[in-house]
Amino acid sequence: MKVDFYTPKREYNEKKEEFNKAIQNVLEKGNFILGEEVSNLERAIEEYTGAKHAISVASGTDALVISSDILGFKNGKEVITSPFTFLASTSCLVKHNAKPVFVDIDEDTFNIDTDKIEEKINSNTKGILPIHLFCQMSDMDKIMDLASKNNLSVLEDAAEAFGMKWKGNNSTTYKHSGTLGDLGVFSFFPTKTLGGYGDGGMIITNNSDLAEKVKMFRVHGASKKYHYDYIGYNSRLDTIQAALLLVKLKYIDNSIIKRNIVSNWYKERLKSIPYIKIPKIKNDQHPVYYVFNILTEKRDELCAYLKEKEIGCSIYYPIPLHLQKCFSYLGHKKGDFPVSEKICEEILALPIYPEISEEEVDFVCNAIKSFYKK
Ligand SMILES: *Cc1c(COP(=O)(O)O)cnc(C)c1O
Repeated sequence: MKVDFYTPKREYNEKKEEFNKAIQNVLEKGNFILGEEVSNLERAIEEYTGAKHAISVASGTDALVISSDILGFKNGKEVITSPFTFLASTSCLVKHNAKPVFVDIDEDTFNIDTDKIEEKINSNTKGILPIHLFCQMSDMDKIMDLASKNNLSVLEDAAEAFGMKWKGNNSTTYKHSGTLGDLGVFSFFPTKTLGGYGDGGMIITNNSDLAEKVKMFRVHGASKKYHYDYIGYNSRLDTIQAALLLVKLKYIDNSIIKRNIVSNWYKERLKSIPYIKIPKIKNDQHPVYYVFNILTEKRDELCAYLKEKEIGCSIYYPIPLHLQKCFSYLGHKKGDFPVSEKICEEILALPIYPEISEEEVDFVCNAIKSFYKK
């Protein structure tokens, strides 16, 4: 049996007609840039997340770069974030010459260790950039509390966090990821929980002034056509992507439920293996299993073994950002953020997507078991 780490093909085959029709409509109308499907998607995301404003852009990375620019994460100001994440969470700061100030992660959740933030705050600190990784949100109560006490802006990297909810077990008072900070960012990269058929991203906010600015920044800083108030960007979500994402959004609740069911299949089957640790969910929140990770001994050998058996697996992330060549100018060395470094050596992501079958999960888990019996 071959088990893909990720595949968009099954979903496409299931809903081929809807996806084809969505594209065909746009082709027939010819409204390729900021067509009505784009604003339809934005209104639908506002409704889904409860955010007052949703503004789509060309990618999650652009959403982070534009948001950092607007929040003043630039010109030598310090922004506190975690080194255990995808590059874009930190490169967005460096693009505007802000200084990333890393704080190590909580070893159970892989999110920023909020107990270590306060000691890094000084008069030059402008903001906090928490990342909601893999399946759960950072401790937003603590982060928002520190931000309000110290007058800091908060940019939530919710690129992986579509559907995650803070205080998520209460259906009336929960807050969707991205709506707690000043600005929140989603990515529609194909593998993401709400993934498109190409690049795409979105910025959400409850602040109308910030929303106005985001709208200008995605069209070169123009307040109206050919009237430029700022030096902005050319960063828009293609109408074709918006039309495809509107189809995906119709089924998102079911996709999220399926992901969480698959995560339970893994947990049941792997819990008895002594060499494997399964990450815990902390705090009152509704998780979404965008990625299913395990912590393992002999991780690289296990990964090679699975690949030999045609089982996809992936390592998020093999090197923490403070040890990446591009950030060497920050002067960090091995040992500076020991939890992040240890997790980078042990973590392994297993195949998860709504269409994966229980037989396939069985196959993956049996292969893991047979590896440790060798
Ligand atoms: C995917 C991702 C991004 C970047 O999104 P793109 O749409 O690929 O540009 C940023 N941050 C995190 C944590 C991500 O996982």
